[in-house]
Amino acid sequence: MPKNDVIVVGAGPAGIYAAKKAAELGAKVTIFEEHTEVGAPSHCTGHISLNGLRRLNLNLPKNIVENKITSAVFHSPSGSQFSMRYPTPVSCVVNRRLFDQKLLDSAIGAGAEISTGVSVDSFLSRDGQVVGVSLKGKQKRAIPSRIVIDDEGVSSTLLKRAGFETLDSRKTVNAVQAEVDGIQNINEQTVELFFGRNTAPGFYAWIVPLGDGTGKVGLGAARGSPRDLLFRFIHKNPEVESKLKNCRIRTLTSHPIPLGGNVAKTFHPGLLIVGDAASHVKPTTGGGIIMGLTAAEIAGEIAASAIKSEDSSAWFLSEYERRWKKEIGFELTMMRYLRRMLDSLVDKQFDTLLSYCSLLRLNEALKDKREIDFQGTSLIRLVKNPRAFLALSYLLLATFPAFISSRGHAYTDGGIEN
Ligand SMILES: Cc1cc2nc3c(=O)[nH]c(=O)nc-3n(C[C@H](O)[C@H](O)[C@H](O)COP(=O)(O)OP(=O)(O)OC[C@H]3O[C@@H](n4cnc5c(N)ncnc54)[C@H](O)[C@@H]3O)c2cc1C
Repeated sequence: MPKNDVIVVGAGPAGIYAAKKAAELGAKVTIFEEHTEVGAPSHCTGHISLNGLRRLNLNLPKNIVENKITSAVFHSPSGSQFSMRYPTPVSCVVNRRLFDQKLLDSAIGAGAEISTGVSVDSFLSRDGQVVGVSLKGKQKRAIPSRIVIDDEGVSSTLLKRAGFETLDSRKTVNAVQAEVDGIQNINEQTVELFFGRNTAPGFYAWIVPLGDGTGKVGLGAARGSPRDLLFRFIHKNPEVESKLKNCRIRTLTSHPIPLGGNVAKTFHPGLLIVGDAASHVKPTTGGGIIMGLTAAEIAGEIAASAIKSEDSSAWFLSEYERRWKKEIGFELTMMRYLRRMLDSLVDKQFDTLLSYCSLLRLNEALKDKREIDFQGTSLIRLVKNPRAFLALSYLLLATFPAFISSRGHAYTDGGIEN
């Protein structure tokens, strides 16, 4: 009998959460993480919804929460604005290093073990079944297990090596983020998002304040150098000049974000795929923490139940995909369509869309809607509101031709507008 029931590859939030759940249900779990410290290096803003945390029953200690957010300002390419404000916080910004370490503490508390500084080289397989992993470098050896949970993140190296279908890299944006101090003229409870093909082609730029003049400033881009675009955004964008002209960059990190919606198949005999590796990420905003944890919780449950039933066949593990799709599949699909629509808008149409949102006072229609993860369901509810219906109709009409012709492409290259 193998020593490990479950091996988790990668101690990102999704992997740790899956490990915690499987260990709570009695499985013997080991996580392998290539970095020596969990949660570091961190490249993530850590902006997550309070509703999402509640759904997952996660209570975060104060030291992990860097700020609480009550409002968002959307800046159109030409500089007009649309704001959403709530009387109480809808989301928070977490310190990702501490957040991941807190999740790890709870996984270890549930009985999971972790080996850091250990890189997994490949899956072990027998008769088409994943039966463990093989480690790299000094620790090079084969480790058998009944189930492997793959949380290797967006790189998907192991999945590619094993010949499994992976996420669509054409639908991935490269993102870069600076932790800065010296932000001025900003509401400390407001996230600011900036759109436009000159600013952040195929995604957006953000300023997320931490409540004390420091903050996270970043952007994603489907083409071009995100680093150059970020420097241009910080130093040359007239929209942000008054806010960022005295800021000092303390750290700069970069990482890709998958925006194509989930991979086609997230289970194979002996293997479950979670988090960014499965592209459990909102294609609209790039947020992957709540989606990844939601799927990971189910992966942990199914892995533990496969161990009890002594059945790690594809048939048994397919229950994982059925269940996570029931929870978030519709949302990911709707957000993938929305992403395609947004990608096909040229800057002038984006300007028009945001001015319609202001003109129609969409912020009033949205004031009771605090759900930022389940955007598909929220949209469907919104359609009943005449103002939202008009704004959505514009989005549909404006994007329909490009949407149809850009099928399969993440980003319709309409050229940089001046
Ligand atoms: C700039 C930026 C900002 C973001 N902001 C937000 C945000 O505000 N809110 C939000 O919800 N999401 C955000 N995201 C997305 C979020 O960071 C990811 O969705 C999330 O980290 C995915 O978690 P994960 O556990 O799937 O994978 P990861 O966090 O990528 O973890 C994967 C782990 O696997 C390890 N690993 C990989 N290969 C191996 C191997 N062979 N052997 C051993 N270990 C291995 C890696 O070292 C890593 O620790 C952002 C992403 C970026 C790039």
